Amino acid sequence: MHITVIGKSPSWQDAGGACSGYLVEEAATRVLVDCGNGVFGKLRARCDYTQVDAIVVSHLHADHCLDLVPFAYALTYSARQQPWPVAGYPGTDSPARPRLVLPPGGIELMRTLSGLWGAPTLISDAFAAEEYEPGDVVEVGAVQLRFGSVPHWVPTCAIDISPVGGGPRFVFGADSAPNEEIVAFGAGADLLMLEATLPRPERDGIRGHLTAEEAGAHAKAAAPARLVVTHISDELDAEDALAKASAAFGRAAELAHEGAEYEI
Ligand SMILES: [Zn+2]
Ligand SMILES: [Zn+2]
Repeated sequence: MHITVIGKSPSWQDAGGACSGYLVEEAATRVLVDCGNGVFGKLRARCDYTQVDAIVVSHLHADHCLDLVPFAYALTYSARQQPWPVAGYPGTDSPARPRLVLPPGGIELMRTLSGLWGAPTLISDAFAAEEYEPGDVVEVGAVQLRFGSVPHWVPTCAIDISPVGGGPRFVFGADSAPNEEIVAFGAGADLLMLEATLPRPERDGIRGHLTAEEAGAHAKAAAPARLVVTHISDELDAEDALAKASAAFGRAAELAHEGAEYEI
């Protein structure tokens, strides 16, 4: 499997960057994991968006799903998606309609969101939308997706992606407070990607994210072949975060950056 970081920012984009978006490719199958703000333009620089088989969303925070809106507009209004010849395109009887695999409540949330500007069916018309439940296993072409609940402020699932029939495992931890679930879910992954959002734990309220040390400690317990830390703002010292994650992991971790590619 081939994994490409499309965007890795936390809830606001890095300068010139994008929020959560990771392209997973296996054989002829392309799956985009998360589609946060800024992701669609970055995706277009990497591949043809009509060739994406499915978009899978870990949770319904804006930085993980907001660019479903421009993605849907492209699928709806771009010249080459129309049934008649336009702007040099011949017209098509089979416009792309990728699958959209959302957390519980996702279809209604997107309907409400785009309904605010009078387009409630924007997402459900553009994509073949479905919802998963924690524990579900979903196949998309050559890959299999498994969903495991992790604690965050909204229902959130880590996602285990592997070739259908077995093979290397990419486990994306999504966003989470410190927890045992991701340790069990990500145990033995070939590549475990964990958020390391915070320079220090939240000062008050319910925890929702990990520090770099916590990401490293979780990974040490899960013992993946490789650890990549992500969701770190360009306003923080990423090298310091990497050093802290590596120290807690007990091995060298890696730092996600836009355009980073991993082969597992
Ligand atoms: Zn996030
Ligand atoms: Zn979140």
